[in-house]
Amino acid sequence: MSFTTRFAPSPTGHLHIGHAYSAWTAFRAACEAEGRFVLRMEDIDTVRCKREFEQVILDDLIWLGLDWEEPVRRQSEHFSEYDAVLERLRGLGVVYRCFKTRREIMEDIARAPHEVGEVYRGPLKPMSADEEAARIDAGEAFAWRLSQSHCRDVLGARFGEMRFIEDDKGEQTADPVPLGDVVLARKDVGTSYHIAVVHDDALQGISHVIRGEDLRAMTPLHVLLQTLLGLPTPVYRHHRLLLDETGERFAKRNRSATLKSLRESGVSPDQVRARFSD
Ligand code: GLU
Repeated sequence: MSFTTRFAPSPTGHLHIGHAYSAWTAFRAACEAEGRFVLRMEDIDTVRCKREFEQVILDDLIWLGLDWEEPVRRQSEHFSEYDAVLERLRGLGVVYRCFKTRREIMEDIARAPHEVGEVYRGPLKPMSADEEAARIDAGEAFAWRLSQSHCRDVLGARFGEMRFIEDDKGEQTADPVPLGDVVLARKDVGTSYHIAVVHDDALQGISHVIRGEDLRAMTPLHVLLQTLLGLPTPVYRHHRLLLDETGERFAKRNRSATLKSLRESGVSPDQVRARFSD
């Protein structure tokens, strides 16, 4: 498979230097490998994502010196594909409806023995079919969660043998257990980042996923979904996160670090790229 990587921003705001570093790292890797570079708009959250942000992102990336294959894939135009993925997972029996509010989830976590953090490991007792039917009939909203225990049943020994290659570290064990029963279809958007990213990476022939180390924790979940769906697992590279002068990660709310404000204040792309080697 030829080297193909991507940058996949969510247009919920303007890009900051940290995003620029991520985009540049992926783009450079594609150039060095004489491979392909694709851009994808991860805009399934149609309330928070805005077309005006998308346009600024495109302008920013061109200004920074990137180019990519057209057309840019926009996830909001492919909800039916993500529905089909969820349907397959339903067919495998590895997802379940969760009607709980955030507060009820937190109460369940608090009651679960030996649990640390905010990991939800499923209902303490499964909902009866009658109650589920009644709540659906009543029009109650629900999310779909991935059941770790059902994944284990379906995959058998393979569940404990999942691996992925991390570019700089070699073979890694993909252990999704610490993540608990993750939401795969949100109540509000009907799908999730996890379904969309796994589907799109496979569809777009992504051989190398290059993204920030803040997303590393999710990689075992993505490998689990790839295993369930029979999709190839790309090589992963999780790059360091750039920090601002105070040692904090750049955030979309930090307006002075947005590429838009930097380019409008006369900073050159070279000066931005110089920050990448700090
Ligand atoms: N859309 C994600 C973000 O903006 C990136 C997802 C990924 O690279 O896998 O953080």
